Amino acid sequence: MNKTIRIKDKLIPYKTSWRKVKNVRFEFKTCQLHVVLPLKMKDEKKVIKKHDRWIYNNYIKIENALKSSSDMKLYGKRTLKEFKALLVEKVSILSGEMNLCVNKILVKKMTTNWASMSHKKNMTVNSYARMLPEEFIEYIVHHELTHLIEKKHNEKYWDIVRERYGDYKRYEEGLFKYWFIIHQKCREK
Ligand SMILES: [Zn+2]
Repeated sequence: MNKTIRIKDKLIPYKTSWRKVKNVRFEFKTCQLHVVLPLKMKDEKKVIKKHDRWIYNNYIKIENALKSSSDMKLYGKRTLKEFKALLVEKVSILSGEMNLCVNKILVKKMTTNWASMSHKKNMTVNSYARMLPEEFIEYIVHHELTHLIEKKHNEKYWDIVRERYGDYKRYEEGLFKYWFIIHQKCREK
């Protein structure tokens, strides 16, 4: 069910759902806020009030990302087959250069991330990423390969990323923007 909450000058749409979780979770993975409540919590009003600054700031961040993204183009023409072939190519080049080994490459619809790397060295890439420019797809592949060296996003991790992508922040910010551009498109449909 869709609801709205007014925080300062913004009317923010959100939905609630109940899950077996210990604490309340706020997810801003689409343009809409998703409030996940523990089963025994009846009402979300209090927790929203308590976290209204975080909600407001994230909403503004997404709004600004979308405003400043008019020059960012999506590649709707790339088929899934072409996308998979591109991934195989990027993984083979980069893993060779980095002296790493990937077990499998999987493509599926993911709701929270662009990609992930499992402990079995399986790389899963979000099928939405097929709409990204090639340089961003390559960046995602490199990002996940780097997780084979360092699991966490700590200093050591970013040091490795920086060796190839001195301007990695531009890519991270770009991916943040693209995430919401793509999800806004999906919502408009
Ligand atoms: Zn990561």
